[in-house]
Amino acid sequence: MPTVLIVEDEPELVKVLRSYLEQAGFSVLSAGRGDTGLSLWEQKRPDLVLLDLNLPGLDGLDVAREIRRKSDTPIIMLTARVEETDQLIGLELGADDYIAKPFSPKLVVARVRALLRRSEAAPSTPRVLRAADLEIDLEGHAVRRGGDLLDLTPTEFNLLAALAAQPGRAFSRLQLLEAGQGAAYEGYERTIDAHIKNLRAKLEPDPKNPKYIETVFGVGYRFIRSGG
Ligand code: CA
Repeated sequence: MPTVLIVEDEPELVKVLRSYLEQAGFSVLSAGRGDTGLSLWEQKRPDLVLLDLNLPGLDGLDVAREIRRKSDTPIIMLTARVEETDQLIGLELGADDYIAKPFSPKLVVARVRALLRRSEAAPSTPRVLRAADLEIDLEGHAVRRGGDLLDLTPTEFNLLAALAAQPGRAFSRLQLLEAGQGAAYEGYERTIDAHIKNLRAKLEPDPKNPKYIETVFGVGYRFIRSGG
């Protein structure tokens, strides 16, 4: 059952939306403030957010921006400021759709369904990769192991991100060379071995017995599958 989070400070509106959405088979969460809405989103990671624009605590736009910084959760803005909606979309504030107030709850349900279908059809790339006990923040270019920030060079980061994005896949040195340094690489495939060695020294508790990045003899390297 998909979960919809409603962030809206008009209790009557929440009540109506909740009842329509529940009848349509959705599980519904709600918050009456921007800040509480955002923390609820963090905790529950709903499938879609219906987000009011004018909210106490934290403005709807800030909530949308925060959510978008961390995920591709579909967002529908609910707005009474009709004249500004075009700008809203144009400013790429991260909303996927908007509905101007006043609206019919049936329309909202239809838009929720349509947007969920769309987002399921186009699975999004995660912005944070989690592999084993590593957290790889693709936008912030940061890697944490058990919460501790690791100090990687850009090349090491790119190599790790490429490997961890497809656990279990063996990459050749040439593929890693391209992943690590982009299209304009220079160097030899063997330089990958040096980068991997440095990466392991920072990443692996015991670099001699690597638990994240395995050597695939005759091919190159691969990131372990979780649990394996
Ligand atoms: Ca409001």
